[in-house]
Amino acid sequence: MSRSNQATWRCAFCGNPGSKSAEHVLPQWLRAGTAPLPMQRTSYWTGFGLRDDKQAYASVDPAVRESRNSMLHQTTRAVCVSCNNGWMSRLETKVKPIMESLFHSRRTGNTLTLPPAEASTLARWAVKTSWTAELSGLGNQNQDQTWLSPHALKQFASRDVPPTVSWVWLASHQDLDRVEQMQAHVAIDRTSPPAPGEAARRLHASALVINGIVLVVYNFESREHFPPPFRPMHGLRLWPRPTAVEFPPPEVSHQEVTGAIAHYGHWFPLHNRAFDHSTRI
Ligand SMILES: [Zn+2]
Repeated sequence: MSRSNQATWRCAFCGNPGSKSAEHVLPQWLRAGTAPLPMQRTSYWTGFGLRDDKQAYASVDPAVRESRNSMLHQTTRAVCVSCNNGWMSRLETKVKPIMESLFHSRRTGNTLTLPPAEASTLARWAVKTSWTAELSGLGNQNQDQTWLSPHALKQFASRDVPPTVSWVWLASHQDLDRVEQMQAHVAIDRTSPPAPGEAARRLHASALVINGIVLVVYNFESREHFPPPFRPMHGLRLWPRPTAVEFPPPEVSHQEVTGAIAHYGHWFPLHNRAFDHSTRI
């Protein structure tokens, strides 16, 4: 790499020029609690577009990419050494006993209560995992295509609480052995029909399923009104406004988790419906 390229690289989080590191999306200590993972991962990108007749939105064909490594091998080179060894490392240390107590609770059926401070730490870790997975999935050449704004990334790196753009839920997955991560980007115009100059509503949604635990993260650019991803009592909201959380809640099926990431009809009623030209949504 030339000197000039070295000089222009900046950390995706703190925004500082520094030394690149290879940050693992998922910490290696998770390896101790998981069965051997398949050396293959599938990523999907989905979204909406205007139909050819311009009269309705429809799902676009999903793009699919196969990666020949396991989930625990995912890294991103978008993070500097100082972030990796600093706040990210401290967050991993802080979340490890919380995750271990959740795994234990799922295996034994013993209930536990997460105080608000631990709910907030777990939510922050879920966001960090979601965002580094996003940066990792884009690859080194496409970092500018990220959903995440430089402002949101910088704010995240400099504060001890989850970002204001994020909502985080905790749930119990029916399958104690499943390890999976999914994410989706959704962009849809604010008005129907689309108005020039109006910014689109954009959502980044992700779910991490690991040993009977589900962490769902929704990121909205603005506070949108939308229903929670799971039925009442099945999804425990960790952020915003963390409260004490009783774990585990009743289990959710894998189909419900997939639905929380892939089905947007109830948030975006324009989806697959003809325009009503008389009203603005
Ligand atoms: Zn940094």
